[in-house]
Amino acid sequence: MRTVEEHQAIVAALIRPPAPVSMAIADAAGLVLADNLVAPNSLPGFDNSAMDGYAVLASDIAGATKESPVTLVVADDIPAGRTDIPALAPGTAHRIMTGAPMPAGADAVVQVEATDGGKGGIEGGGKVTVFESRAAGVHVRKAGEDVAAGETVLPSGALLGPAQLGLLAALGQATVSVIPPVRVLVMSTGSELVDPGTPLRDGQIYDANATMLLTAIRAAGAVAEQVHFVPDRVEDFYAALDDRLGEFDLLLTSGGVSAGAYEVVKDALSSQGVEFAKVAMQPGMPQGAGQFRGVPVVTMPGNPVSALVSFEVFVRPALRRAMGLPRPSRTIVRAVLDEDIESPPDKRQFRRGTLNRETGSVVTVGPAGSHFLRWFAAADCLLNLPAEATVLHRGDTVEVWPLD
Ligand code: AMP
Ligand code: MG
Repeated sequence: MRTVEEHQAIVAALIRPPAPVSMAIADAAGLVLADNLVAPNSLPGFDNSAMDGYAVLASDIAGATKESPVTLVVADDIPAGRTDIPALAPGTAHRIMTGAPMPAGADAVVQVEATDGGKGGIEGGGKVTVFESRAAGVHVRKAGEDVAAGETVLPSGALLGPAQLGLLAALGQATVSVIPPVRVLVMSTGSELVDPGTPLRDGQIYDANATMLLTAIRAAGAVAEQVHFVPDRVEDFYAALDDRLGEFDLLLTSGGVSAGAYEVVKDALSSQGVEFAKVAMQPGMPQGAGQFRGVPVVTMPGNPVSALVSFEVFVRPALRRAMGLPRPSRTIVRAVLDEDIESPPDKRQFRRGTLNRETGSVVTVGPAGSHFLRWFAAADCLLNLPAEATVLHRGDTVEVWPLD
């Protein structure tokens, strides 16, 4: 028997970080930077106005008050985006908009609210009366005050969300070097499986695991595709992978790894570089990991609850770690049990539960059996119960993994 930690380490060692790639910034959300981001230019790129108003020489309006305002000729108009910027002559003002370049010769902006708004138009003899003084530098955004060219603005490993990708765009970068998502191929096995949306015959069931695992992989930040489920025949198993496997970084199977007959995954992969072992946990005891045709493989049991718990315990943290994503493991919360429960001896047990964050208490939902998928769907956390525990009492503190 392996411990949970031993099998976690085996799976983690199997999934290697993908080589960095360059991609369009709009495609990089949720990935991490492969290299430090060094600013190629400054932000702001030029001194510009922080207000809609008038660019002035501060000394020209030094004494301005409501009672004794200063009136200046408005010599020009500078909207945002104007690129030929006329210099300011002393004793005059330029009307200026937020984000427009400061003219040479001006050192402050007085916002429109502190003036009469200008009279007589912009071209030809317009004037503005200013009611307040402004010190030099006021309402001017200085070039480089946010980012100086050459500065490291994001470290390698930074997670790219809206602000980080916005910063890249602001710096003029159309592409970015990232750790790409791990590509996972999902395969369900079982001669009893049928596609959802098609009729069932007696003894058949719908393939729940493919959809469940695709969703879990994508939620973990990786890329997932499915190969259509295969019956419990080794030739079909191999044939289904013939043209697909090479495009993926990981094959994730469910079913066919227990101790019965017709264990297709075990039969197909045992002699091919995948090692099958029992892990001291419930659910999810039969597990396998290794390489097939040069591609890492993790094999999980077929019961849907076992499969999803196995994914949470072994695969999700390994995927996130390989991609450099923050918090590869679920955040651990300590919560107080609000019921008495039993747990099998000598096995780690993962029960489904609901956590009350206000009171810090937790209860299990549904029985321990590994086919009670409906109850997993009602849960928002896993309880990680220690191997040595056989009886847990109301009031005991337990480790909980919120699943959000
Ligand atoms: P196995 O691990 O193949 O022995 O399967 C264990 C149990 O899980 C059996 O009851 C299977 O019918 C069920 N099972 C296996 N694969 C799936 C699947 N993809 N969707 C739903 N149930 C499954
Ligand atoms: Mg099966």
